[in-house]
Amino acid sequence: MNNCLITNALVLPMTEKRESFAGYVRVTDGIIAAVGHGAAQISGDEQIVDAAGCALLPGLVNAHTHLYQVLLRAVWEDLELMPWLKRIYGCARVLRPEHFYAGSLLGCLEAIHSGVTTVYEHNFLNPSPECAFETIRAMQQSGLRAVFARTIMDTGEIVPDCTKEKPEQAFRRIEEILARHKPSEQLQFMTGPNTPPINTTPDLLREIRRFADDKALGISAHVAESHSVVECVRREHGTSGVVEFLHQFGIPAANSVFAHSVHVSPAEIAILKETGTSVSHNPVSNMMLGDGVAPVVEMLRQGVNVALGTDGAASNHSQDLFDTMKAASLLQKVHHQDAGIIDSYAVLRMATAGGAKALGLSSVCGTIETGKRADLVLIDLDTVHSQPLNDVFSQIVHCAKASDVRTVMVDGKFLMRDHQLVAHDGKKVLADARQANRDLMERVSRLSF
Ligand SMILES: [Zn+2]
Repeated sequence: MNNCLITNALVLPMTEKRESFAGYVRVTDGIIAAVGHGAAQISGDEQIVDAAGCALLPGLVNAHTHLYQVLLRAVWEDLELMPWLKRIYGCARVLRPEHFYAGSLLGCLEAIHSGVTTVYEHNFLNPSPECAFETIRAMQQSGLRAVFARTIMDTGEIVPDCTKEKPEQAFRRIEEILARHKPSEQLQFMTGPNTPPINTTPDLLREIRRFADDKALGISAHVAESHSVVECVRREHGTSGVVEFLHQFGIPAANSVFAHSVHVSPAEIAILKETGTSVSHNPVSNMMLGDGVAPVVEMLRQGVNVALGTDGAASNHSQDLFDTMKAASLLQKVHHQDAGIIDSYAVLRMATAGGAKALGLSSVCGTIETGKRADLVLIDLDTVHSQPLNDVFSQIVHCAKASDVRTVMVDGKFLMRDHQLVAHDGKKVLADARQANRDLMERVSRLSF
């Protein structure tokens, strides 16, 4: 049965209007058919989901991750970006397609358990074309709405040869992906440079812009993540910042998503705003790698769209967007030494509508509104850490935990119901991921970094 009525919920639509109300949502053929206050009239042909004690939110959007990295949780610890990246990149010499599949599927299940309904994979290690295919297969099997950004590296001292590509070779491989998977609202594709300029030449950037325009693809990139990247762009290209550098090649644009954007100047924030570029803020990863604090408040004030991401589990170490929301809130407050600098509604908007906008999915998901696809989550508020309820937005951001996510629906289909995965054998996915991790760690142990 495709149709259902979610009743007795505390509905948080997450539109521009800050509101919550006791009410219901009716889902018909995967679409939000009605949103209302109070009780709904029950028709005979729909299943009823009693959401008493729960908040009903649009599904969260994880706007930047590397799913396979769940296999690399807590493997390379206490390292700054460059020495850490040297290991992450070096790992490509032994990464196999089956590692990508097993890790990505576990990463997707962790996302579902954390109330995520859309996941944005920034793919950057492709020692063989099958690595991308296996990641996409896992994302599709998970049932999540997915955006797969297949990015490119063509230079860099720490980049292994097996992942360096000539532009035409990389574009051919992306065309193979597009030939095999027709883009849809459920699965979209992007391209991009990985971490300019440390692993991309100016020629590649020029070619990427041309290719992206030709194929109508958005662009994903890691931008100005640490001081070391900014030092590199100054030293090698004579521009004051990474956004300024990328602007020469037309990379900032309305369909571009820049992860991190930690070290960006006010002039560069103006470029982001002018070009309509979105930023994916990854506070936990930035703190873990000691990168710095992204100027999120300044970007929001200037009207830049900011989304939230976990980043890969190798630098997070989870895929938990509740952790990320709380970190995003607290990091700005302590950085500015001003408790009022950012409010919970703004943070929750970044994790929902902001994420959907960044990925070009504003008309599809990100808010609870009639006509959008039914990507919905129920969060249990009847818990020792969320009661009594005074400010639901603050309490979702600061009190709720991923383990409170009771039910997850994408496109009107249940992925998790009453804490139980609907279509996946979680134990098997865990066992397969442990096996993949053992195999990968054995291979990694033979590498020298
Ligand atoms: Zn990343």
